[in-house]
Amino acid sequence: MGTASLLARNALRPILDFALPPRCPGCAAITRDPHLFCLDCWSALAFLGEPCCARCALPFDYGEGAAVLCGRCLAEPPAYDRLRAAVAYGDIARSVALKLKYGGRPGIAETVARFMQRHLDAAGAPLLAPVPLHRWRIWRRGYNQAALIASALARRTGLETRLDLLDRVKATPILRGLGPRERAEAVRGAFRVNKRRKAELKGRRIVLVDDVYTSGATANACARILKRAGAAEVNILCWARVVRGEDSH
Ligand SMILES: [Zn+2]
Ligand SMILES: [Zn+2]
Repeated sequence: MGTASLLARNALRPILDFALPPRCPGCAAITRDPHLFCLDCWSALAFLGEPCCARCALPFDYGEGAAVLCGRCLAEPPAYDRLRAAVAYGDIARSVALKLKYGGRPGIAETVARFMQRHLDAAGAPLLAPVPLHRWRIWRRGYNQAALIASALARRTGLETRLDLLDRVKATPILRGLGPRERAEAVRGAFRVNKRRKAELKGRRIVLVDDVYTSGATANACARILKRAGAAEVNILCWARVVRGEDSH
């Protein structure tokens, strides 16, 4: 597809979003409200919350107190301060993430932002920023799904957002199937703080927004460089978090 037609298609998207009947963001069944899940999808979603690890939001079976960390965070503390996610990664959560990423339905960002908002600690007016995509990917897809979510969150909360706070300077391979060390290696040097934004993040709390948290390799790489550049605190806020298995972190 040429650049002109790609631009035309993207320009038409918001209009199409309004013209079509509202659909469930999980299974595409027609619904009353554009941001509602159908009953089946709603019941299949695993909403996250307390009790969980204070740091990485890994769910605990029973309440263990407010500041308790999971074994993994104790053994190997992540570079970020606090992660929160709206739902556990599963069939419906994945379907929503894929529609947001590839389905040409950026209106879904508004839906996921609604669910993420209650996990957003707005104290001290943190700066919202998306996990960046490589320029090449944005050019092909037309948008960065994390930036759409960050913008929707900013509209809903009135918080400031800096969509260009971080640059992705290296296109990273798909991390699926790689072990923790290989993942960390794959994202090494992939991100950079935008020089023009360095002064703004000094001493600030940053909320880094992403669609899916899988291994934590990306979140940790971003958090590390933000801290190095002077951010006081880095929190991660995402739509879905992988919960099962040793795949977390
Ligand atoms: Zn549904
Ligand atoms: Zn943890």
